[in-house]
Amino acid sequence: MNEQEFIRRKFKEYYAKHRIASVPSIESREFGIGDWGKKIVKRHMSFSSTAELNRFLKSEAPLYISYSAAYYKDPSARPMEKKSFLGADLIYEFDADELELDCREKHDFWYCKNCKSYGKGTAKKCASCGSDTEQYQFICENCLAETKKQLNRLIKVLDEELGILEDISINFSGNAGYHLHIRSERIRTLSENARAELIDYLTLAGFDFELAIDFSQAVPIFEKSKQVKAPLSRILKTLKEFLLRANPDQIALYGGIKLSKAREVYENKKKIIAKIDEGRLPPIASSRATSLKFWRNLLEYAKQKESIKIDRQTSIDKYKIIRVPNSLHGSTGLIAKIVSLQALADFRPLEHALAFGDRQIKVFINKAPRFRLGNQSFGPYENEEAVLPEYAAIYLIGKGLASLCE
Ligand SMILES: [Zn+2]
Ligand SMILES: [Zn+2]
Repeated sequence: MNEQEFIRRKFKEYYAKHRIASVPSIESREFGIGDWGKKIVKRHMSFSSTAELNRFLKSEAPLYISYSAAYYKDPSARPMEKKSFLGADLIYEFDADELELDCREKHDFWYCKNCKSYGKGTAKKCASCGSDTEQYQFICENCLAETKKQLNRLIKVLDEELGILEDISINFSGNAGYHLHIRSERIRTLSENARAELIDYLTLAGFDFELAIDFSQAVPIFEKSKQVKAPLSRILKTLKEFLLRANPDQIALYGGIKLSKAREVYENKKKIIAKIDEGRLPPIASSRATSLKFWRNLLEYAKQKESIKIDRQTSIDKYKIIRVPNSLHGSTGLIAKIVSLQALADFRPLEHALAFGDRQIKVFINKAPRFRLGNQSFGPYENEEAVLPEYAAIYLIGKGLASLCE
């Protein structure tokens, strides 16, 4: 049996035992499926009921299945205009890919087909011959903790600042992140412009200090009333935390001032923070220009830290399709598992989203870094045979890094 048949059989077994009932208004959604090496090979499919979707999953067991954020009168019609758009959920995606995490240098690697060399990290060009590389992404607990942090920040802002945290569904992406679906009636009709404004608000891309703070005053001031539940209050909170924790070197670096000046700021940080709480950015030097430069630098630093790292394009695109919650992810064999808001804090995808068991399977592994899955660590491996639990074997086969040993 080859690897593709093996995975297909395992996916069929999974769908025979697990009913997927995670898509509300299923008859109004467009579906798409993917296969080896391609997450979408076919779109414009539709299912009249959950039962019909499950019959399809059991018989075809696609490696990937996605559904539309949008609701259509006729979801399988082509081209897109003929579907008759009725509205769309708001979906936010978080992926460790976007976070530029240091751990990726440890567990991700590239392979050059041309000269057959490998390298650590995410380089797009081969270090030896300059050809385009193939990328192999792994995930670790740090990747998932960091994406969860972003998700939690989003949830807080949607709830406390925007008041649109209703009819939500959260799921692990099946690979390196999370998806948040908002399905309330009142967000369905938002235009692409409104969706873009929302993402600008969340990422703070649209936030202008010059409008929020009056820099023309001798001591820049901001209105205290505006602080409440506004992006500025988040930014100022981060700025104050920075002042509390930073050492003089960091203050000099991020504030763009001399170390001697930074030491003074460090000594007086309590007083400075008290002024900020009064709605002022106090002078930190006799030169007004130096003070303003310092505050603008720190505000910009805090803004970058407070920006929620969300994939911009997918959250604006009303016609996109996204993984069906609770379906399997073909590159990992993990479940794109739904997790409740209450359970999110204790949810550990590498343990809780396993679809397959621990029957031992012998595989030949081309290459894999040390990785964790299902409460165990594996590897590193290079051109060697290993006996792995089925879930770990499927994980590597899905990435194209292992083959079955007969
Ligand atoms: Zn090369
Ligand atoms: Zn990582």
